[in-house]
Amino acid sequence: MTQSPHYIEVALPLPLRRVFTYQYTLAKPAVLGARVRVPFGQRQLIGIITETRATDPQGFEAKPIVAQLDDDAVWQPELWQLLSWSADYYQHSQGDVFANALPVLLRQGKPIGYAPITYFELTSNAPDVDEHALKRAPKQKQLIELLQQGRLSATQVKQAQISTTVVTAACDKGWVVSVEETPMLDAQQHWTMALSEDPLAVNQEQAVALSAIKQIDGHACCLLEGVTGSGKTEVYLQAIEEVLTAGRQVLVLVPEIGLTMQTIKRFKQRFDVPVEVLHSNLNDTERLHAWLNSRSNRAAIVIGTRSAIFTPFANLGMIVVDEEHDLSYKQQDGFRYHARDIAIKRAQLLDIPIILGSATPALETLSNAVNHRYHWLQLTQRAGVAEQVEHELIDLKGLPMQAGLSEPLLTQIEAELNKHNQVLLFLNRRGFAPALMCHECGWIAQCKRCDAYYTLHQAQRRLHCHHCDSQRPVPKQCEQCGSTHLISHGVGTEQLEDFLNERFPEHSVLRIDRDSTRRKGELDAHLKSASEHKHHILVGTQMLAKGHHFPNVTLVALLDVDGALYSADFRAPERLAQLFTQVSGRAGRAHKRGRVVLQTHHPEHDLVQDLLNNGYQHFALTALAERQATSLPPFKHWALVRAESTDKAQVVEALEQMAACLPQVDGVMGVGPIPALMEKRAGRYRYQWILQTSSRKQRYQVTKYLLSQWENLSILNRIRWSLDIDPQDF
Ligand code: ADP
Ligand code: ZN
Ligand code: ZN
Repeated sequence: MTQSPHYIEVALPLPLRRVFTYQYTLAKPAVLGARVRVPFGQRQLIGIITETRATDPQGFEAKPIVAQLDDDAVWQPELWQLLSWSADYYQHSQGDVFANALPVLLRQGKPIGYAPITYFELTSNAPDVDEHALKRAPKQKQLIELLQQGRLSATQVKQAQISTTVVTAACDKGWVVSVEETPMLDAQQHWTMALSEDPLAVNQEQAVALSAIKQIDGHACCLLEGVTGSGKTEVYLQAIEEVLTAGRQVLVLVPEIGLTMQTIKRFKQRFDVPVEVLHSNLNDTERLHAWLNSRSNRAAIVIGTRSAIFTPFANLGMIVVDEEHDLSYKQQDGFRYHARDIAIKRAQLLDIPIILGSATPALETLSNAVNHRYHWLQLTQRAGVAEQVEHELIDLKGLPMQAGLSEPLLTQIEAELNKHNQVLLFLNRRGFAPALMCHECGWIAQCKRCDAYYTLHQAQRRLHCHHCDSQRPVPKQCEQCGSTHLISHGVGTEQLEDFLNERFPEHSVLRIDRDSTRRKGELDAHLKSASEHKHHILVGTQMLAKGHHFPNVTLVALLDVDGALYSADFRAPERLAQLFTQVSGRAGRAHKRGRVVLQTHHPEHDLVQDLLNNGYQHFALTALAERQATSLPPFKHWALVRAESTDKAQVVEALEQMAACLPQVDGVMGVGPIPALMEKRAGRYRYQWILQTSSRKQRYQVTKYLLSQWENLSILNRIRWSLDIDPQDF
């Protein structure tokens, strides 16, 4: 019998890019990929065994582990390989990557198994809903009405917007009891495929796309490019049908659950199979159960946002990434991965097809389609009966403006409202006004901690910095000259809403932005009442542009496009083009013809003209050629070092020392240190340094070398810094 190894390497959830050696003292063998509890300084951490070794570590005494928590590896080889690849590709701490991929309860060391769920049930003491006792307690009444139809889990109660206070009160009165129950599951019980509605008869383009997808044997990546309403979802559904029929599971990634409820509903309507939706309303237990259901083949379809890419599957047969261009797929802190890119890798490792869908593919994706690395499937017609959309430019030069609206636009809004149509207005600035200004001397209230002006929130009578979240009451006097004549400058969604209410008093205005949807369920409720035509004018930020259909909207206006035309971020035009195309898809579905209006001071701008005359794809291909000519991504491969400190000289010095480690290699260039777009934020100075290489492999080698050199720079202990591979934001 071989003796179990004496030492193990453990990946811990720490930013450090290394593993830690421990002594393995248990009788049962050490298992690669199992969780262990280990001492670390004053605390204990949960880590994953990455290696076992028989030889002593040199030069120090390894501490013994506390416990091994699993008898088997947490992940199947496929996911283990994917996670290791991800840590390597993003040059990120393996332990942190592992932690990101685990449900919270497992991160905390709970056993891998179903945990008890709390349910609420009515008792025989519960009053009848018509009883007098409930007349003045509408929430109690609602709870009892709901429970009359059967017991509910704590989460379902929460989703029905009934607070714990209400539930506790009902329990205290003896009307309701809570029971804990652990799901008992038969290990062999899996789903079987069944359709609950017939697929639509596909049109010519959909048929071509579907047959291309169905012919794939093994791995291939398909870009399904089609304007909103062109029938992409129907193509997903029919492609998925075949995979499910073959008994294999499907993963669908979506940008944001709250904004994609309509799509999710269609999946549930079509297939009579278990669907897990990973949304932010799930509590830790439910999240663990979804993870287990997928792993044990109890779920057929898993739909989720970014982190769902790390869900374990028993038999994954296809991945769909809807709205693949969406920025939310990129995690912007800690482990800065791109879920779409990891999804492609996962499909490769599993040798299965992946479909990337978008009306406005990312330039990276389009470039792969142009180069024939992806199948390029296009849907150019709107499916069903929707009419085409008209575009119009309003030249703002010299026009009188009210709350960001020009007179010609106001006339159009009025005309649509008179015809009982809905109007959708986009303004990517929440709050009342971007700034509070002194009318006497021009002073502007500025956040002391950031290079940014305070946003005036009139309703709360506060100034709010959208960059560091600091707030203060609206000052009564100018800090520079003491004048009390302070005026708001610029327009935000709140002011636009106020103005529209005043101007069109007989029409209802609904504002949808981060401020108006802070509470759980609020976004859903707003979107629902908007699509039911309960409001005539919808005002919103970018949030409103994603994946939602408003059949009665006939006029969409982008109120301010100039910012994006002259931004320092080379991706800003791409983002504007995506927004424009997405909102164009929001207008005039069903039987009504829609119009999209752009307000700009620069109607002659190339981008605007190209977009309007030739559409997104033409614009994007032109932009791609420009990126090639100017050696920008995706033609160069970037890594970005972000650094910040309260001491400006120190952060610049640190980046200079980092940059100095760059070896002379053909095709490799370092740029910076340069200040971030917002140089000062929350009291810290922010600088960055960009590494540009000719290939991914070269970037990998150079960053690996640099990281080893940077370990010797003591100045890095005095600043905060991070490495971002394929950065999306500057
Ligand atoms: P997308 O996902 O590209 O926005 P959808 O798949 O949601 O497009 O299709 C838009 C609308 O057209 C939906 O109401 C859908 O039911 C309908 N539709 C899609 N394909 C067809 C078809 N082949 N025949 C009739 N209606 C269709
Ligand atoms: Zn601030
Ligand atoms: Zn002043």
